[in-house]
Amino acid sequence: MTFRITYSMLDADLSVLHSQFDQTLSTVRAGLGAEYPSWIAGAAYRSGDLLESRNPASPRELLGRFHRTPASEVDRVVRVAREAQRAWGATSWEERVRILRRAAALISERRMELAARMTLEVGKNRLESLGDVEEAADLLRYYAGQLEEAQGFVKPMARLSPNEDTRNVLRPYGVFAVIAPFNFPVALAAGMSAGALLGGNAVILKPSEETPWCAEGLYHAFVDAGLPPGVFQVVHGEGETLGAALVRHPNLDGVTFTGSKAVGMAIHQQLSTGRARPCLLELGGKNPAIICRDADLEMAVEGCYRSAFGLSGQKCSALSRIYVHETLRQEFLTRLTEKARGVTVGDPSLASVFMGPVINKASVQRFERAVAAARSDGTVHAGGERLRREGALAEGYFVAPTVVELAHGHRLMREELFLPFVGVTGFDTLEEALILANDGEYGLTAGIFSRKPSDVESFMDRVEAGVLYANRRTGATTGAWPGVQSFCGWKSSGSTGKGGCGPYYVAQFMREQSQTRM
Ligand code: NAD
Repeated sequence: MTFRITYSMLDADLSVLHSQFDQTLSTVRAGLGAEYPSWIAGAAYRSGDLLESRNPASPRELLGRFHRTPASEVDRVVRVAREAQRAWGATSWEERVRILRRAAALISERRMELAARMTLEVGKNRLESLGDVEEAADLLRYYAGQLEEAQGFVKPMARLSPNEDTRNVLRPYGVFAVIAPFNFPVALAAGMSAGALLGGNAVILKPSEETPWCAEGLYHAFVDAGLPPGVFQVVHGEGETLGAALVRHPNLDGVTFTGSKAVGMAIHQQLSTGRARPCLLELGGKNPAIICRDADLEMAVEGCYRSAFGLSGQKCSALSRIYVHETLRQEFLTRLTEKARGVTVGDPSLASVFMGPVINKASVQRFERAVAAARSDGTVHAGGERLRREGALAEGYFVAPTVVELAHGHRLMREELFLPFVGVTGFDTLEEALILANDGEYGLTAGIFSRKPSDVESFMDRVEAGVLYANRRTGATTGAWPGVQSFCGWKSSGSTGKGGCGPYYVAQFMREQSQTRM
């Protein structure tokens, strides 16, 4: 393999990281409230119609104001991208790799600033924010390595006769819209964009309206690395207006989307009208963990707690259903409840805080509705309330890590909530647990805790999900790194059949051409 992955975070001295983060946070805070443009054709675009980005831990804190791109500009944006793509698509793959590798280096260099922005804009704790930024840089390196390994995806094929020479070549589609979610605002926006760009496509990135500030930082890293004007544009605005206008545009050649199933399916429907083109969807999850009778209970509790409550449960891979062997149910619930009650919830910019706020008011309301349903139909063991913090955080969107006991068939055990809210239910046999784990529309991640290798093998063979983990203390169902875990959604969790972070990613953004010369 020719690619090189750096895990610089893992090597870093934590005390140095903390002090660098604190210093950068003060610098970043000093510039709050500035105005930022959308970026069209390599130039700042200012519509005068401003989208505000606010801190979910302290919604009065205005982080920045972003010029929306109106739907009426989408046609120009697509024309600019098409024009710029002609030269970009004809640029050698080696040059595309050089530019994206430089972008990776710039993202790493600027990681403190990007992470500080992310903690303020998304509410991720500082280590999670730094992890997101480092993942972005490693994704770019890993995806660039795919082009190197395949030598630009030009492959000599078999000869039917001695004077016939056939090559299989992967070529760009043209113009891709990249529509990104809020929860990994640098890693996912960067990874999807890099896949399309390395493939020779022009990209129009529409970041989540919750995270325009992170996207602004990403734009500069890409452009400073040498992407020509118009090859990478960033447009700000809401999904229902700008996002919908973008995917309606007839001259897009493809869309790559990471986000909720409902929005993904609407985009899919839109893209399937008119002409045939790729629509790469990476969607939600309702991820189960199975805790067997012989499990290491301490390990299972730790792994479940981390996966259910890390990033306030706002990961597509978050643990939201736990199936525990009946003989362990009481003991497990007692221990998980204790862990959940001990979680430090508060200002995510502080080093001591594990869990920050949820992203917005709508998430708090969804939490309150879920808790009301759990109180009426099951038992709430831990959490269940909105948390009020003091001073500047008084209006922050904080909720308590919540553990509930519910019957498997309950809708809260089926719908993705995207909250620090986990449901627990008992089982008697592994056979039953596997059926319960597979009984749902999603298939993203799943975990098992068992000391019996044959149980682990049954789980690996039979669970219908793209990312499986056994006996993982650091996360029962969460955690993926470029070149390590490929993040492929099965069933309603994705349409691509090839995951982000995985070895087949870049090829999805290209189409085959067979070239036979006599
Ligand atoms: P979301 O679906 O609400 O929004 C995602 C993006 O789509 C945003 O940029 C939004 O503005 C845009 N959008 C909304 N409506 C649109 C429309 N009608 N047309 C075009 N674009 C539109 O998701 P979110 O709340 O930002 O993120 C959370 C979701 O993302 C969860 O479901 C989570 O599981 C999923 N997710 C999946 C993965 C994965 O790898 N499978 C990774 C991260 C997040």
